[in-house]
Amino acid sequence: MATQDTLFIQTFYDGEPGEKLAVARRLFDELTDLSTSPVFMDQLEEIRRHSQSLNAHMQAMDLGRLCSQCASRPGGGCCSAFMAGNTDAIQVLINLLLGATVTAHPDNGENCCFLGPQGCCFPVKPIFCLNYNCTHILEFAEPEQLHTLYRLAAAVLSQQTRIEFLLHEELRRRGRKATRPLTGECSPNR
Ligand code: SF4
Ligand code: SF4
Repeated sequence: MATQDTLFIQTFYDGEPGEKLAVARRLFDELTDLSTSPVFMDQLEEIRRHSQSLNAHMQAMDLGRLCSQCASRPGGGCCSAFMAGNTDAIQVLINLLLGATVTAHPDNGENCCFLGPQGCCFPVKPIFCLNYNCTHILEFAEPEQLHTLYRLAAAVLSQQTRIEFLLHEELRRRGRKATRPLTGECSPNR
């Protein structure tokens, strides 16, 4: 069964970015009743709060300006086409559940297909992107700002891992046609 579980879970991490988005949309449609689970919705609100705090801090650090300048230079910024591979269907699903509009732009061979005119379309980014602090940021920021950045990113990551676990459990259970109702039972400690 462990092997079947591994294969089942692996399907959410395979494929091209557009395929992962298609899988995430299908899962989103299948999981609409999660909105009736107070426990799951609480967890979702928690990551929304953490993500908003992180984004507010990044704005206060003026990282948008730094990244815009970087992206306009030859060679561009770090949101390359290759980096789009760091997404997975569960991370995209979390963003859909948060109400984000997720679009995979046609692959131009340069930029990440999830990079739009307003920047990354994900409030909750792939883990690699979330943890990525380039030398420009490390040189630009004050130590205290960096400390806060790491702390807030860790809070998002921790909650992201928690929700990912809940979704894996939920999808496994539905895959096995379990009969227990959903509402209120998305306990991470189960
Ligand atoms: S994170 Fe760093 S490398 Fe990426 S766009 Fe911003 S400044 Fe450039
Ligand atoms: S931060 Fe967003 S736009 Fe940039 S590489 Fe990661 S997923 Fe793509």
